[in-house]
Amino acid sequence: MKHPWCAFVTSILSKVCLGYGLKAYFVAIVAFYFIFVYFFVIPFELLHKPAWLVYLLGTLGLYLFVNVLFYFFAASLTPPGSPPPQSTGNRLCSLCRCDKIHGTHHCSMCDVCVLKMDHHCAWMYQCIGARNHRYFVQFLGYISFSMILLLTAGWRTFYVNYYATPEFFCAVLPSSQPIYTWICPYQITVYTIFTFMLSVILFVLLGGFFIFQCLLVSIGTTYLEYLVLKLIALTF
Ligand SMILES: [Zn+2]
Ligand SMILES: [Zn+2]
Repeated sequence: MKHPWCAFVTSILSKVCLGYGLKAYFVAIVAFYFIFVYFFVIPFELLHKPAWLVYLLGTLGLYLFVNVLFYFFAASLTPPGSPPPQSTGNRLCSLCRCDKIHGTHHCSMCDVCVLKMDHHCAWMYQCIGARNHRYFVQFLGYISFSMILLLTAGWRTFYVNYYATPEFFCAVLPSSQPIYTWICPYQITVYTIFTFMLSVILFVLLGGFFIFQCLLVSIGTTYLEYLVLKLIALTF
């Protein structure tokens, strides 16, 4: 049994490091992408693609950026939903004494019962359940489409600046560009590789998780219920 002060300090540290820390990290990554796209990719692509197409893609990108942030915070700030305490004489949770109605699971991290619990998400610092599951799936969808858009529409930017061919960003755009002094000429390859690799990783991981979540939603189940069914199938 933990001392109450020890439990209190652990919960504060966990909230600051995981609750606020990971959210701040996520916002910093989104801000980095915003600067990279609007001050590097778009000015560079304007040299090679028709202006109307670049502005159209830029507007679509802005729409995706806003939705990624909106649904991230909607999923992390909307409570996942808990059953009523000790109501109708159903089976009760042995840990928190809540009504254990169908699909309810007790999360050991949050120490509460969650309706239609999907999983506990460290990035959201809470469970994904009945009330915030759709926001979570929408977040996964928007971030996956953002990565597809960046990797396809910005392919020339990645290719030319990675190999630093003679027509790379620092050679063809004026030094008055807002981020010119940050990235030219030596850091440009590092920024390009970092953003390209991160985009591929995010696309593969979150895109795969998005498709998996869509399949689970289409058969009316959650990730946790899927794991339970899989365990039963393996046992018998
Ligand atoms: Zn419980
Ligand atoms: Zn939880």
